Amino acid sequence: MKALLVFVILSVPCYAQKETGYLLQPDRVFDGEKLLTGVSVFVHNDKIVAIGPTAGMKPTGDVTVIKLPGCTLLPGLIEGHSHLLLHPYNETSWNDQVMKESDAYRVARATVHASKTLMAGFTTVRDLGSEGAGYADVGLKMAIEDGVIPGPRMIVAGRAIVATGSYGPKGFDTDFTVMLGAEPADGNNLMQVVRDQIGKGADVVKVYADYRWGIRDEARPSFSIDELKLIVETAASSGRSVVAHASTAEGMRRAIMAGVSTIEHGDGGTLEIFQLMKEKGVALCPTISAGYAIAQYKGWQAGTLPEPDGVKQKRTSYQAAIQAEVKICAGGDVGVFAHGDNVRELEMMTEYGMMADAVLRSATSVNADVFGIGNLTGRIKENLKADILVVQGDPTKNISDLRNVRVVLKDGILYRNEPGIKTK
Ligand SMILES: [Zn+2]
Repeated sequence: MKALLVFVILSVPCYAQKETGYLLQPDRVFDGEKLLTGVSVFVHNDKIVAIGPTAGMKPTGDVTVIKLPGCTLLPGLIEGHSHLLLHPYNETSWNDQVMKESDAYRVARATVHASKTLMAGFTTVRDLGSEGAGYADVGLKMAIEDGVIPGPRMIVAGRAIVATGSYGPKGFDTDFTVMLGAEPADGNNLMQVVRDQIGKGADVVKVYADYRWGIRDEARPSFSIDELKLIVETAASSGRSVVAHASTAEGMRRAIMAGVSTIEHGDGGTLEIFQLMKEKGVALCPTISAGYAIAQYKGWQAGTLPEPDGVKQKRTSYQAAIQAEVKICAGGDVGVFAHGDNVRELEMMTEYGMMADAVLRSATSVNADVFGIGNLTGRIKENLKADILVVQGDPTKNISDLRNVRVVLKDGILYRNEPGIKTK
């Protein structure tokens, strides 16, 4: 049988000054689902236009060839749960950030957080609540989209919705009216608040299905199932999904039955609840790192002191979710810990029992599909946006290799260029 040789000629027309073309030649490509070897990826302007055998890709014209020996190319990572408007709580408590830091100060910090996130290879974030900074997340997103500042593409939630009496800051004389970290609403008023939040720029609606509530600060379900259904129906009629913060089994159950797309945290989830999630097609965003970081801020030293109950419970619930084959998103609740250190969550996911390649799928194609942006990003695939991360090593074997960032492209723009390739 004759060997069939197919050559793909790649060229960028030289008459248009703004055109860019990159031919990336790594050792391995993780395409969002599986590992490929011996292939190259051609980027033209903002799109991935070809993936094929390296030997068959022949560049002509103004194409910049980037040889990446020892490297793995993968889709730009997607952070499933960020708060770009927060910074680590061991620097400033959440209460003080919400109540004492001005929105201007918080936005100034957020621009730095956005840049650090992008430079770490996270080209998209789902930012789940401004935590008292109004719609500053919407403004931040627009500044990034307009090219004013570097940052990841953002899916934003705006203010988020909480039941009256449930959310913080708390702990003050009841004569004070305290500015809250989210918007309270109840009953029929929920319809108006959902529509208002969408009007002000929310891409997704975030609701707190439970929260630490009452003077003993015990986690309790907040909204009734009918209220949650009203939120989901109102958001869905505009084509938007709802994500639910839930850490109690009952809060999770109500949110699942109401039709939310993802459950955030899920600490109190039982095997039965996770089986219900699997049945209803609801994904879990476990946010392992957040609770782990908070325990450390409270004085726990991992490895020397016994694990606090909360840390144990998180591991148990996460493993129950895996056992029930729930779709797992990757999202760390970054902001509780440092922006740019997003890989920490992916490392925790492997440490607690998920295979590295499955974690990479979560942080790329799974997140993209669950967040409704699979037609835009999350895979190395022709006609998708050129959101690309190249790292030294093989993160399908050692997830921490994601920290060895060599190249970051978003929308085809080269933001990080460690090989120091001269661009044309
Ligand atoms: Zn959060």
